[in-house]
Amino acid sequence: WPTVAMDAQSQVVGRLRSVFLTGVTLPEQFRQAQLNKLMALIKENEQRILDALHKDLAKPKFEAVLSEIDIAINELHFAISNLSSWMKPEYVEKNLATKLDECFVRREPLGVVLIIGAWNYPLQLTLNPLIGAIAAGNCAVIKPSEVSPATESLLVELIPKYLSQDCYAVVQGGPEETQALLKNCFDHIFYTGSQKVARVIMQAASVHLTPVTLELGGKSPCMIFGGVNIRAAVHRLAWAKFFNAGQSCVAPDYVLCSPATRDAMLPELKVTLEEFYTKNPQASPDFCRIVSPRHWSRLMELLKRSNGKVIVGGESDEEDKYIAPTVVVDVDEDDALMQEEIFGPILPIVTVDSVEKGIEFLNAREKPLALYVFSDDSSLVNKVLESTSSGGFCSNDGIIHSGLPSFPFGGVGASGLGSYHGRWGFETFSHRKACMLRGWALERLNGLRYPPYQENKLNW
Ligand code: NAD
Repeated sequence: WPTVAMDAQSQVVGRLRSVFLTGVTLPEQFRQAQLNKLMALIKENEQRILDALHKDLAKPKFEAVLSEIDIAINELHFAISNLSSWMKPEYVEKNLATKLDECFVRREPLGVVLIIGAWNYPLQLTLNPLIGAIAAGNCAVIKPSEVSPATESLLVELIPKYLSQDCYAVVQGGPEETQALLKNCFDHIFYTGSQKVARVIMQAASVHLTPVTLELGGKSPCMIFGGVNIRAAVHRLAWAKFFNAGQSCVAPDYVLCSPATRDAMLPELKVTLEEFYTKNPQASPDFCRIVSPRHWSRLMELLKRSNGKVIVGGESDEEDKYIAPTVVVDVDEDDALMQEEIFGPILPIVTVDSVEKGIEFLNAREKPLALYVFSDDSSLVNKVLESTSSGGFCSNDGIIHSGLPSFPFGGVGASGLGSYHGRWGFETFSHRKACMLRGWALERLNGLRYPPYQENKLNW
């Protein structure tokens, strides 16, 4: 049956391509109308979205509104109010030889693009790239993650109800269907997920020389050095880490601090986690679940293989896909918890003697998607900012920078390729065409370049 699936998929891609070529997606009015319909999809189905997110990840309403619904709505507002200025031709500086020409960069849609979504924020990580694709005037095939099935089926049902079925299609399925889909020729592939699958995507894209955007992850550190208000620091750290049960691509993966800071933080972490989720987080309505039994087992395996000492949490319940907010100390760099992105509610604390050693530690590893530095000392913050490389950077907080639509969101090195959100999403899904419109004036002057060549004419 994969052949049948592939045939059906190529028919979808072929249909979208012929619709794209009619130019229907080009006018701003069309793009604005589709963006407004996407807004209506979210607003008119808010309760169903909340229910689906709860079913998939036990997402509390507060987290779902903040990090899925509002993020997508803000992105829509931003695109709707800026689209006409983004679409304007950009006139460029000219030189003597082009003085009389009209020289501008025109943003054009790429064509039919593929968006492969992730499961941890299954609404916004699927819709936000789509907003960029629509704004830029593309047709799109959307493949939501099968790992969050309730949100996946809601998107499969709602997208065709609201958006133009001629221009946008939703394809359902897991790795097998995705690989079949990838055999088709797209004009851009936008993938959010793991580095492992990103290699499959890039390889498939190379067959058709298709450009890719890869929104990946990695181990995003939280460095705490110098003086800092421990209580506030622990609150912000714990919120950023245990939001969505740690299943955020920009979650602080581990803490890097001095032994003294660790000792000061530990009692505060215990108290804060109790304040947030009570003594029994499993009964708290504010703490998410792990998305699938497979992901639960991976995390439990990491915890089992770790040589560190569990100081807070450690409890789990397989049936409920529950892992308590967990803090682990005495973790060295060879520990199991330091070999891959954790992507769950387990926080290792690694100690080094100084911020300089911390910078060395970071620079010896893959570039992370986010880097957090907590400190009262702004020169220390700047020192880390200037001597490290990461997708994004935020001092004295976690996660929060990823919600600002005027920032590019994306990784660097192993944490990703390309970026989106706001104008950056529009750019990702646009081709920047260099346009020179010449007239017929000054033909005699133009004639200087024709053969037979005379070197003295080079200096005209
Ligand atoms: P994943 O990479 O396994 O799956 C994501 C998507 O890829 C799904 O739609 C799935 O159907 C498809 N897929 C899975 N296996 C495939 C295969 N062999 N061939 C083709 N397609 C395949 O997702 P995961 O590993 O569970 O996600 C976690 C990772 O994603 C973490 O590293 C996290 O940091 C990263 N992430 C990054 C962002 C970001 O915005 N940068 C957001 C969320 C997650």
